[in-house]
Amino acid sequence: MARYVFITGGVVSSLGKGLASAALGALLQARGFSVRLRKLDPYLNVDPGTMSPFEHGEVFVTDDGAETDLDLGHYERFTGVAARNTDSVSSGRIYSTVLEKERRGDYLGKTIQVIPHVTNEIKDFLKVGADEVDFMLCEIGGTVGDIEGLPFFEAIRQFAQDRPRGECIFMHLTLLPWIAASGELKTKPTQHSVKELRSIGIAPDILVCRSEKLIPQKEREKLALFCNVRPDSVIAAYDLKSIYEAPLAYHREGLDQAVLDAFGISPAPRPNLTRWEDVYDRIYNPEGEVRIAIVGKYTQLEDAYKSIAEALTHGGMANRVKVRIEWVDAELFERGDAAASLEGFHAILVPGGFGERGTEGKIKAAEYARTRKIPYLGICLGMQMAVVEAARNLAGLATAGSEEFDHEAGKKRFEPVVYHLKEWVQGNHTVARRVDDNKGGTMRLGAYTANLAEGSKVAEIYGTNVIEERHRHRYEVDMAYRKALEEKGMAFSGMSPDGRLPEIVEVTDHPWFIGVQFHPELKSKPFDPHPLFKDFVRAAKDVSRLV
Ligand code: GLN
Repeated sequence: MARYVFITGGVVSSLGKGLASAALGALLQARGFSVRLRKLDPYLNVDPGTMSPFEHGEVFVTDDGAETDLDLGHYERFTGVAARNTDSVSSGRIYSTVLEKERRGDYLGKTIQVIPHVTNEIKDFLKVGADEVDFMLCEIGGTVGDIEGLPFFEAIRQFAQDRPRGECIFMHLTLLPWIAASGELKTKPTQHSVKELRSIGIAPDILVCRSEKLIPQKEREKLALFCNVRPDSVIAAYDLKSIYEAPLAYHREGLDQAVLDAFGISPAPRPNLTRWEDVYDRIYNPEGEVRIAIVGKYTQLEDAYKSIAEALTHGGMANRVKVRIEWVDAELFERGDAAASLEGFHAILVPGGFGERGTEGKIKAAEYARTRKIPYLGICLGMQMAVVEAARNLAGLATAGSEEFDHEAGKKRFEPVVYHLKEWVQGNHTVARRVDDNKGGTMRLGAYTANLAEGSKVAEIYGTNVIEERHRHRYEVDMAYRKALEEKGMAFSGMSPDGRLPEIVEVTDHPWFIGVQFHPELKSKPFDPHPLFKDFVRAAKDVSRLV
């Protein structure tokens, strides 16, 4: 059975617990171990699928169709291990399972309580797939002391107690604030945070301390003494210019060694860090820069498009250029002149999204890119809007639009070239949906196969004719318009295997104009950039060389 590392946070949120977990995963892999990462979130939503990106950043979709926390994206990008439905859980899901069991009568008349019923459910979640890997890294969302996090902390305490000694360790991430007036780094908040943790029965083995200043030896010793950890288990986490330096930085600080020591694994296998050294070299030594506009709705919060920003960075690394991303609010610029807002960019990306707000701006962005021959990548809603644009301006359907916006407005205003999906094939069965279904978990979700047309641009980019990509959508481009659009130069170059759902469109008379119904960004890694992002940035680089 796997060894477990539980990762908790204290003092403040947003310290980069997900990143620390992901980097530790990468370092254990570099030493030859297999890993899986897992996230436990204390909020009451059953999953983040129904949360606005403003609340919680992007929703990360797994191959098996789970809508999960964006930290799972970090895990995949750093380890290359595809996350599963069973790698993400929230209080909401745990409680809904417990309540379902109660209704079914599974508890045989017992009083249902947080301990043991909720904690047992959490422990069962932790055990899934434990035989498959050497290390299971489990991150608890939120910070110690949060009321809603308590059942999770109690469950991991019990879990470690149930297992043989030495098979579980606890790593706690905190902040050492810098007080400029006195010129000091303060250890007191960390001491309090550890005290809080110990009061609920968890003694951390490793302390990871975020700090904007170098942590002096004296402070490390103080932390070790007051928090009851070994001095070499006090690990500094300094601010980095790129998150992809994290594995090397944590290795330098001795995190992986401290973890292996805590498990008593000796001698520790030597790490092979060449993958991360290459990533480092590409990130810090670019040979040029490209400017790419992301025309979206959630542009005030970059986390809303986390995987897209990362995939663009990976594409830049593959081409040895720095990608400068600029966020353009679709809503603001739809009132103004598209050319003025989009002038000077080397490529334009329109990401996924929901609802009508900002969509006329996205349509303008697609038109600008198509007519000015600027590379365009439309993802999900970004593809649908590119099709609407082509339908209006190439095929002459002036009222072309998406049924999504008509549903929202409660009246019919558009000719629906994008319509609500009622059924589709998944594996060997048909999935059916109604317009008034529950919102949670009912989209076309997860990995689906697409066949690419022989000789198409996408087939050339992917280097294959069959691909598998992750989806998250309710609406779909209507095949009824295929002929009209293809006659005007928008080819349907990727299709579902049954030939019913358009997965990719491309403008043939254009250097690089591609719309995809799926989310390629979810599968890109720094050491294995996604082919579409790699080639999109290459096309942007070509444009940058012309101007
Ligand atoms: N709102 C669109 C749909 O449901 C697009 C979804 C998305 O961009 N992820 O089909």
